[in-house]
Amino acid sequence: MRFECCPKCGSKLVGREIGDEGLVPFCENCKRPWFDMFSTCVICLLYADRNKFALLKQDYLSRGHHVCVSGYMTPGESAEQTCVREVKEEIGLDALQVDYLGSWFYDKRDQLMLGFAVKIPEEKFVLSCEVDEAQWFDLEGAKKATEGAAICQKLIDEFLKKDL
Ligand SMILES: [Zn+2]
Repeated sequence: MRFECCPKCGSKLVGREIGDEGLVPFCENCKRPWFDMFSTCVICLLYADRNKFALLKQDYLSRGHHVCVSGYMTPGESAEQTCVREVKEEIGLDALQVDYLGSWFYDKRDQLMLGFAVKIPEEKFVLSCEVDEAQWFDLEGAKKATEGAAICQKLIDEFLKKDL
């Protein structure tokens, strides 16, 4: 999102050259720039071992395919803490290990997605009301179940390159 008016005082912003950033919307009243804004989310590939992955069905996100656990970061959290919180909220399990896999920008929603592999114990899922179903898959099953979920598929590819 690109600001046109100052979110603090409402003045119309003007373009100003700031260092290497080029023209940045600037409030002459508050004397500060307002950089383009986007939200930051984590997306977690849940696994118990290299051939056992947990995926969700969330009908409000997609009826066609399974998805990974994802959620918005809140101010004050590290991305790893967001992962632990989201995994607990969505399927009720405690993360055993959290490893960074890579990041992707999701243009459609203006979101920076930080991707992680999250190891979880093989225990019973306790689903949040946002989750319609959670299920274990082997590697081939997980690849098939996430067809159409581009970032989930990239997470699986990156996971396979790592020694986790
Ligand atoms: Zn202002």
